[in-house]
Amino acid sequence: MIVLINFLNKFLYQCSNIFTNFIKMCSCFVNRKIFYREKHRFYGGIDFVSMKINRSSSKFHNIVLPKNFFILIDDVITLKNKIVVNVGQLVLRGQILALGDNNIAPVHSPTSGLIIAIVKKKFSFFSKKYFSIINIKTDGKDNCINFHSFNNYKCFSTSKIIQLIYNSGIIGLGGAGFLSSKKLKLAIKKAHTLVINAVESEPYITSDDCLVQHFAKEIIEGCKIITWILKIKCVLIVLEDGKHKAYIKLKKELKLFSNFSIRQIKKKYPSGSSKQLIQILFNKEIPYGKHSIDLGIVIFNVSTVFSIKRAVINGEPLIERIVTISDSELLYQKNVLIRIGTPISHVLSECNINIHNSTVIIGGPITGRIVNDLSFSILKTNSSILCTKLNFMSNKLEGPCIRCTECSRLCPIRLLPEQLYFYSKVSDHKKSQEYHINECIECGICEQVCPSNIPLITYFKKEQSKLNKIKFKENMSKRFKKLFLSRQSRLYHSDLIHKNIVNSNSPLDEQCNNSIIINNNIERITIQKSNYFRKIELKAAISRAKLKKDMK
Ligand code: SF4
Ligand code: SF4
Repeated sequence: MIVLINFLNKFLYQCSNIFTNFIKMCSCFVNRKIFYREKHRFYGGIDFVSMKINRSSSKFHNIVLPKNFFILIDDVITLKNKIVVNVGQLVLRGQILALGDNNIAPVHSPTSGLIIAIVKKKFSFFSKKYFSIINIKTDGKDNCINFHSFNNYKCFSTSKIIQLIYNSGIIGLGGAGFLSSKKLKLAIKKAHTLVINAVESEPYITSDDCLVQHFAKEIIEGCKIITWILKIKCVLIVLEDGKHKAYIKLKKELKLFSNFSIRQIKKKYPSGSSKQLIQILFNKEIPYGKHSIDLGIVIFNVSTVFSIKRAVINGEPLIERIVTISDSELLYQKNVLIRIGTPISHVLSECNINIHNSTVIIGGPITGRIVNDLSFSILKTNSSILCTKLNFMSNKLEGPCIRCTECSRLCPIRLLPEQLYFYSKVSDHKKSQEYHINECIECGICEQVCPSNIPLITYFKKEQSKLNKIKFKENMSKRFKKLFLSRQSRLYHSDLIHKNIVNSNSPLDEQCNNSIIINNNIERITIQKSNYFRKIELKAAISRAKLKKDMK
């Protein structure tokens, strides 16, 4: 009996120990989790708690093609005579309409039909620049060119596949519109981690969520293409909290891939921005003037990855994308597959949206633009159309800055928007650069919270464009200076100058004498600084070659 009691005592003691340890472990885990969450937050931003929560729409819809497409082409391309089609020409779906350049992707026809006009137009709400608009009257057949698939892409060189991605007109579909081929080139031998960004931090937008739910397999295929190009193994797909269906779909597809992982992050605007995303995921802050690639991390939007898959495996250029159409009351929300160049008026009428007394916003409610001309058509970077009866985007009377510092408290880049506002207003370029105006990601938070309704981003954009112009002029003058010096050096070395110097005793007119005096002076200087000139000559030759390449 005593032995039994002793045994029970020991047993109970052990059980209590195990239980206490278990409780300790749990509390440790909870504490660590809390610590982990706090550690990986970024500065500023707006929590979604105070805003309307997205209602995820799992289906996507197709709409009838419009009778007329209006493809907007950047005027820079037009200036360089890169539009390769003419009025009266018949085109097929996927046929190239305009060639790209170093910063702009080529543009393809979204359907088959006849080109009835190419005009120039400026949209006051979009930007001050002109667009060339190619008007295609559809023939209703939607015939396409022969698409060449690169199913066996691993048999080709990486440069060939990057060129294919460029030729397919693929740009960052998250909003920035940066050339994907250029990003890939920059990341070669630098990146060790690929981050797939499926975070839609602005409210009302659910297009990426819908895409992941329907095309998880294709997205993983796109990731594999990128990892093969960049020779990297680690892939991280990032979703927001609450995107359960997308998470389950991805998880199911990723069972066999040990190098792929999924992360869900808390909803907070602008967590979809690359700098904030890296801070949340890796607890690393990207310094001013640097990019994620400098830390070895390359970020692609999930829609871009899907387009890369379609370009490489199916040979299809980028001519359509999923766009979220919604109203601010969320009575209506649909994800629609829309061809690039479809007029907004057609999209809204096909979706049966009554826009009477409503404001149409292209983009999210924070960074979007109010559309006052519904003939404006869908661009590659548009992920949402929002119709709202609310007046949160309407023009309000601008007041003076009251130095409340609310803007700097919430700026995710830790800028001082109130200071930048003053310097931009008085065009103090030196100070605005000192306060890192070029680091502004135009998230719009400062403008949203400003009690004086100051259109801060408009001021910042104006200042940035002035700075860009100044920088451009400085670069050009530097180039011309180099070219001038190299020319002087070339003249000295040329036979003609030597002959002139040898024949300097022969009768020459006044102009020729002057030239010889100048040349003799150059000779003296050149002899003294011959090494210096040789270096300049070399640099000038390189800059000339670059200039020629740019001009091409
Ligand atoms: S728009 Fe620019 S300055 Fe304003 S909060 Fe965003 S990053 Fe900061
Ligand atoms: S929020 Fe507006 S009023 Fe307040 S400091 Fe910033 S710019 Fe000035």
